[in-house]
Amino acid sequence: MNEAKRLYEGKAKIIYQAEEPDRVYMSFKDEATAFDGKKRGLIAGKGFFNAQISAALFQYLEGQGIPTHYLGRADERTLIVRRLAMLPVEVVVRNLAAGSISRRLGLEEGRPLHPPVLEFYYKSDALGDPLINEYHIRALELATPAQVAEMAALAERVNAALSPHLRERGLILVDFKLEFGLAEGRMVLGDEISPDTCRLWDASTQQPLDKDRFRRDLGEVEEAYAEVWRRVTGGESQWSGGPQSA
Ligand code: UDP
Repeated sequence: MNEAKRLYEGKAKIIYQAEEPDRVYMSFKDEATAFDGKKRGLIAGKGFFNAQISAALFQYLEGQGIPTHYLGRADERTLIVRRLAMLPVEVVVRNLAAGSISRRLGLEEGRPLHPPVLEFYYKSDALGDPLINEYHIRALELATPAQVAEMAALAERVNAALSPHLRERGLILVDFKLEFGLAEGRMVLGDEISPDTCRLWDASTQQPLDKDRFRRDLGEVEEAYAEVWRRVTGGESQWSGGPQSA
């Protein structure tokens, strides 16, 4: 990737401009952060695993009729994606209580939520991504009411498609975060879908196989990402080196 074309570097990914103006490269890093960047570390191979897991899940969702930014793979940790005008809103879907909702509402971890709970967060590092609702989104002009409705409907469809798909692979989709953007006025699913952005519990042991292993110092962090990669992709890589060369 040509340094001159670097558009943006975030905590877990770097975005590069592709030759085509409507495409970018999304390169996944091994660096990990938690608690608003207060905790930092390296998870060896995470960039490879998250790129491959995201690619497989975006491909699956496209097959289910959900528009995503995914176009293909550039190298073992880099995806080719459509360039989107991102909306500054994170959409979280929760099937079981965990993390911030357990703390905020005093819910036992693992308590089922029927119907699944949908939340919006304002994407702002300076403010620590605060929880917001449709009224905030409208008043702050973060998105139109029609766009909010479309994000919510797509998030519910993603959940309905992904939950059984992962369950068949021995993974419980506890909760996850999505980000959306616009391409030629059309709402498209962007960002990533990985153990960094989903809570995934092993269906037989209920143990987390996601970033909570890093957040909570549970150990076997790399192994968890590798296990999700194996279950989601079948452990096949298009790249000769596999995870070791990542
Ligand atoms: N999440 C994320 N990015 C964020 C915040 C949350 O990907 O900036 C994901 C997180 O991994 C989990 C879900 O969204 O799968 C819900 O996270 P929660 O609100 O419980 O926050 P946490 O307890 O992780 O701080």
